[in-house]
Amino acid sequence: MSEKIYQDALSRVREIGEDAGVNAEVIASLMQPMRTLTASLPVRMDDGSTQYFTSYRCRYNNALGPTKGGIRFHPDVNQPEVQALALWMTIKCAIVGLPYGGGKGGVTVDPKQLSRMELERLSRSYVRQMADIISPDRDIPAPDVYTNERIMGWMMDEYEHITRQKAPGVITGKPISLGGSLGRDDATGRGAYLCILELEKKHSWNPADITVAIQGFGNGGYHAARLLHERGYRIVAISDSRGGIHSEQGFDVPSIYKEKQRTRQVKAVYCTHSVCEQVEHSAISNEELLELDVDILIPAALDGVIGTHNVDNIKANYIVEVANGPVLSDVDAILHEREIHVVPDVLANAGGVTVSYFEWVQNRSGYAWDLDTVHERLGKIMAKSFNEVWDLAKSEKRSMRNAAYTLAFRRIGEAVEAHGTRDYFNSSDA
Ligand code: NAD
Repeated sequence: MSEKIYQDALSRVREIGEDAGVNAEVIASLMQPMRTLTASLPVRMDDGSTQYFTSYRCRYNNALGPTKGGIRFHPDVNQPEVQALALWMTIKCAIVGLPYGGGKGGVTVDPKQLSRMELERLSRSYVRQMADIISPDRDIPAPDVYTNERIMGWMMDEYEHITRQKAPGVITGKPISLGGSLGRDDATGRGAYLCILELEKKHSWNPADITVAIQGFGNGGYHAARLLHERGYRIVAISDSRGGIHSEQGFDVPSIYKEKQRTRQVKAVYCTHSVCEQVEHSAISNEELLELDVDILIPAALDGVIGTHNVDNIKANYIVEVANGPVLSDVDAILHEREIHVVPDVLANAGGVTVSYFEWVQNRSGYAWDLDTVHERLGKIMAKSFNEVWDLAKSEKRSMRNAAYTLAFRRIGEAVEAHGTRDYFNSSDA
């Protein structure tokens, strides 16, 4: 992901904003981040040397509340990518009605090359550099690609050393024992699943008739696959970075997960107790998976996988974007014309930030919720948000992405307008 993705994200904001008649001042407020901090992180390596890693924290927009968004550790992290992700967080939080703006952070590093102690020093170094802009009331990080709950725990600890007080609300996605929330682990996949349950109601689907292909079998993809499989959906294709498997019969998702845990690969197996046997299937590439004739396609791995290069070959009826930015903006109109409906990332993967919000609320109130409470409240927020987007799409004849962005712009717009815009300051009304 690079400059192109950020420019792509901005052009979507501009086009949809103008089309929806959103106040120009609101769109202008989203055309650049409020603040992006770049910092060099000195880290003492195990061999005694010091290495310097480039890092970022972007607070994109805080019209609706403190900024919120993950921290990514990846060799490709760069400033435009962080800004694109922070812009999407701004839109996402507005769509699901959270009292947050959007932010994001990252470090340009291959964490697989670091020892555990180097990783801890890097995580703590990040917080030391960013301590002036993160805080429970200002900017609240969370995990993202290649960061996890242990790293969040280290980061919270470092922040607490610096501020000399307990501050669990400074970061979410922590271990449960350090103030994390139940239900955060599968929240992103569950959120996408809850969107599909709403589609099921709209179309009176019988899950057994509905075929699903999933690209990416990580945190988002796996949990979406697991929950859909439990409900009886036919998961006919699954892939990871090494390639995919396909069978019209559908796969037993728990068996594939178990085998993946054992061998680190997605293999077409059915397991009875500890014995796993291969089932009939064909091996497919990630590109072929995207082009399968299925009811629901779930890209849950990478950005930019559907664009002008393959849009004509996409046959799914629905694309549910668990990954951030899997569909490029230049094919939005083509998909809409072809009646391939996209449940956009800013809605479909919002379950993760919603349960992060629950974690922050619990930390601030000092009261831990049980899992049923988390699931019930997540269910309510996802169903309400999905239906608000769906209804707007129907009533104003918009695609779901267009409707989701329009809804976000209107909410952010209300907050911007509450401070007064040109219309207010130039009017003579009392
Ligand atoms: P993850 O690292 O747990 O899983 C990623 C999966 O994608 C892995 O199975 C990996 O093998 C696969 N993959 C990597 N390269 C691939 C390739 N070239 N082709 C096919 N598969 C490939 O990550 P995740 O947390 O599931 O995140 C996946 C996407 O979802 C990212 O875009 C992320 O930003 C987005 N997302 C995740 C969350 C969350 O809470 N986990 C929340 C919002 C958005």
